[in-house]
Amino acid sequence: MDVVVIGAGQAGLSAAYFLRRAGMEFVVLDANPGPGGAWQHRWPSLRLGKVHGIHDLPGMPLPYADASRPASEVVAEYFGAYEREFDLPVLRPVPVRAVREVGSVSRADNAGVIDGVSGGGLLGGASRVGGASGVGVDGTGDLVVETDAGQWTTRALINATGTWDKPFWPHYPGRFAGRQLHTADYDGPEEFAGKRVIVVGGGASGVQALLEIAEVAAETTWVTRREPVWRDGPFTPEYGREVVARVAEAVESGRVPESVVSVTGLMLTPEVAAARASGVLTRHPMFDHLTPTGAAWPDGHETSADVILWATGFRHALDHLGPLHLRNPGGGITMTGTQVAADPRVHLVGYGPSASTIGANRAGRAAVTALRRYLGSPVPA
Ligand code: FAD
Repeated sequence: MDVVVIGAGQAGLSAAYFLRRAGMEFVVLDANPGPGGAWQHRWPSLRLGKVHGIHDLPGMPLPYADASRPASEVVAEYFGAYEREFDLPVLRPVPVRAVREVGSVSRADNAGVIDGVSGGGLLGGASRVGGASGVGVDGTGDLVVETDAGQWTTRALINATGTWDKPFWPHYPGRFAGRQLHTADYDGPEEFAGKRVIVVGGGASGVQALLEIAEVAAETTWVTRREPVWRDGPFTPEYGREVVARVAEAVESGRVPESVVSVTGLMLTPEVAAARASGVLTRHPMFDHLTPTGAAWPDGHETSADVILWATGFRHALDHLGPLHLRNPGGGITMTGTQVAADPRVHLVGYGPSASTIGANRAGRAAVTALRRYLGSPVPA
């Protein structure tokens, strides 16, 4: 392969579209059972009309869809149609376990055609480990992408693995005897009917879940680490650029990026304003430990609960890149645009400033433009 793309969410599909246009030899490996990236897993009560807005993939607009339909279904259908329209070579389910330098693994003749993996047109071009030119372990040779379904060698990598597979659960001392779940496992408000619920987290997902749960729960308590930032007024392009620039500065300095959504602040919609007025969105500071029946604060007071919902966000799913040693001691990866600053073969899209549907689109294009320069491209730009 010229390029292996890992992940077929918005970022991976955008990259695939531009790789196809550039005439490069590539494959997209995706861990999910079907199209839709992380969207296919989002809770059914997250309707299209309630998301911030889903940007069209390049070259094919999102067809009109009823705003009351689950975003998970609409996006999965759209991504599936997109893959077919551009005949994108997406193979799934293919979870990538590790990416290594060619010289750092034993060479096995292992073509990537495996039972149970379905995929698109370029399978016949899947390359064999050992069949490629590079041998270096100095950041200039080929890479080996190891999966449960075989191995691919590639000259370059576009990583588009998002965050959904890495929910973040902060640790608090103590043991709670009730149910705990993360928003990654949230399936709608029904299971909270009549329960006392603590929702932890000041992001958009926490607020959305809290508003739904408060309608059916006996009692809700909202706790966040920081005072939530409410944003009254339109989300203008200038504001969007400001937010993205802030996160971009972090990754170019090698810091671990905050999520774009957390930097954006919480939209003060009429529904949110009503919930604030009714007291549902009264924020409490973080508790400092869990008790068998709930949570306790430093001043000694306790709140009883049946369920704790951790709406505490996600981290970038990058463990499979561990063997490439891209991280700084502080845990960040220093980036130049979408490229890992120290390794021109590796691009991260949907990472840091591009972790939104519009950012993912742009990052896919930027990564392919850079790789065309680095690798050369059969089709002139
Ligand atoms: P994903 O959609 O997460 O796709 C990543 C893909 O990579 C998945 O298919 C996964 O299976 C695959 N993968 C992961 N690890 C591996 C591996 N090791 N091997 C193989 N495949 C792997 N953005 C907006 O612009 N508007 C919104 O309204 C909005 N709402 C959001 C609501 C929620 C609840 C959340 C969590 C995020 C929201 N975002 C929104 C952010 C947005 O969804 C993403 O930033 C955007 O869709 C880009 O996705 P992606 O392609 O980077 O990742």
